[in-house]
This record gives sequence, structure tokens and C-alpha cells, in this order.
Amino acid sequence: MEPPRRFRYRPVCSAPGCREPAVYKIAAPWSDGPRRELKNYGLACAIHRDAQLARGRSHRDGLKLEVGESMGDVRLFRLDPDRRDTELDCVGDEAPPEPADVPPTAPA
Ligand SMILES: [Zn+2]
Repeated sequence: MEPPRRFRYRPVCSAPGCREPAVYKIAAPWSDGPRRELKNYGLACAIHRDAQLARGRSHRDGLKLEVGESMGDVRLFRLDPDRRDTELDCVGDEAPPEPADVPPTAPA
């Protein structure tokens, strides 16, 4: 008897035509003073993370901020469906993991 598998939300890479599961979130910290959140620029698998990051940065450069708003650099965050945006870990310039090495998501 196998235990029933829980269905989990599996976000997919935002690159056109890519169906790989997303590993990263591309986002920039945004604030208007009292509120702080991440502005989302898309999701990326290990293969498309650099391309999606560059795309997010070009979008961010074209953004006009309102008075009182501030925005940080567009960065990669490690996607974790169990955590809120503001709790995600920022990923530096670490090497992307090989897709085959990504372990299956274990039930919490
Ligand atoms: Zn992809």
C-alpha cells in the first residue's frame, strides 16, 4: 500500500516554450514606506535563470517609480511554495544545479 500522494502546486518556468519546473523566482524588493514586498518578474528553471534575470532587469530599468517608492535590484530567489515572498532566500551567483540532481519534493 502506497500512501496517497499529495498534489502540490508546481510552478513552471516563465521562459517561452519552457515546461521545466521553476526553481527560481526573479523579483526585486519594493517598498513605498510602510509596505514591503517583492515585485515579481517571473519564474525560471535552472537553464533559463540568467535569461529571465536579464529580462527582469530590463523591465525594472523601464519602470517609473512613484514618489515615495523605492526598489532594489532584481535578483534571483530560491522558489519555495511553502514560504511567503518576503521569506525567500536570495540566491547569489551560485552555479545552477544540474536538473537531474534536483531531488523530488518531499511532503512536508
Ligand atoms: Zn526554463
